[in-house]
Amino acid sequence: MEKQRPFMKALKCRECGHEYPLEATHVCEFDFGPLEVVYDYDRIHGRLTRDLIESRPRTMWRYRELLPIAGEPTVGAQVGYTPLVRADRLARRLGVRELWIKNDAVNYPTLSFKDRVVSVALSRARELGFKTVACASTGNLANSVAANAAAAGLDSYVFIPHDLEQGKVLNSLIYGARVIGIRGHYDEVNRLCAEIAGKYGWAFVNVNMRPYYAEGSKSMGFEIQEQLGWKIPAHTVVCMASGSLLTKIHKSYQEFSKLGLVASTPWKIHGAQATGCSPITTAQKAGLDFFKPVKPDTIAKSLAIGTPADGFYALKVMKETGGSGEDVTDDEIREGIRMLAECEGIFAETAGGVTVGVARKLIASGKIPADESVVLCITGNGLKTLDAVAGHAGETREIRPSLREFEGVMANDQPDLVNS
Ligand SMILES: *Cc1c(COP(=O)(O)O)cnc(C)c1O
Ligand SMILES: [Zn+2]
Repeated sequence: MEKQRPFMKALKCRECGHEYPLEATHVCEFDFGPLEVVYDYDRIHGRLTRDLIESRPRTMWRYRELLPIAGEPTVGAQVGYTPLVRADRLARRLGVRELWIKNDAVNYPTLSFKDRVVSVALSRARELGFKTVACASTGNLANSVAANAAAAGLDSYVFIPHDLEQGKVLNSLIYGARVIGIRGHYDEVNRLCAEIAGKYGWAFVNVNMRPYYAEGSKSMGFEIQEQLGWKIPAHTVVCMASGSLLTKIHKSYQEFSKLGLVASTPWKIHGAQATGCSPITTAQKAGLDFFKPVKPDTIAKSLAIGTPADGFYALKVMKETGGSGEDVTDDEIREGIRMLAECEGIFAETAGGVTVGVARKLIASGKIPADESVVLCITGNGLKTLDAVAGHAGETREIRPSLREFEGVMANDQPDLVNS
């Protein structure tokens, strides 16, 4: 980046507005409110134009003025700018006219949207002088911290619930990260990490670095708007764990509107959860402003946070935009995964199944009207959660290498073709 003052100004409490310096800290001393990065929008306005953005490399850093680092990104410089795919076959299946898939199942380098938040958090951690980075994770975050820390030569510790999918565990170990499996739910992992962060002084991407980390999610929303031709979609469906991504997609639409990069057309943000861990959507459906914590029990382990840190703010965003919340069972999640794969050739993890399943319900109930534009945020790759669909995706039919045996198969499938 050109040598100049950074565009971020301070950290600010979301509750009382008290400001803090741009350090590794995340809660207000007075009311324990979460801290958020504030920017100098006056300086960004007029500087950050569509032309400038379009002239830059196709990564999430083309929106760098709205991301919280002071200099050049030193971690994850290639992350982002994943495809936005027009999904006509899935649209027909779900009964809606204009449907798009924002496909972070192919985000670089670890195949989930977490590479966005991690590249911001680790770049900022380096600016603040940290040598060891860490996280409390439901899987994808651990993968991303492990990989990006390895590439940057940082030491990493990742803390996960002990019973995660094998694919997610191996995808952290392979990079040489220290992986600690906690016998407990994510909320217990998170509580322990808050203690460790205080004692060891590491950069915990989603604890003391959380204000920076969370801002990385905005890039997914910036890309959606640019890739739609500088427009805000009428409906965006986002799956929720802590609820942070949902709130940041909303913020990305607000920021681009405010900066005049898009016309400020109305938008609704819809939240998606698994029935087995749905504290946020349950509160939304009941019309409540606060959620009740739950004990997770779902195949969507990446979303299994029973006490979501940003649940309160996610509820607020759904309410303010007129969006809805909905949840889906494990079977509906698998069905969603299969539908996306069969219609669009995209293999999403369980979280993607949640998003597709919920979109299907919201379209069927008319909460998403058939003639309005819809974007589904697909956040992770199915190759990492094979356990979830094993035994539910059909079967290989095994034969000897003989034409006769193959024709036995064909006689079953398509008898007309066999003897012609
Ligand atoms: C972490 C994660 C989410 C949700 O993240 P929050 O910002 O905590 O709501 C969604 N999808 C996948 C695949 C994830 O790993
Ligand atoms: Zn405060």
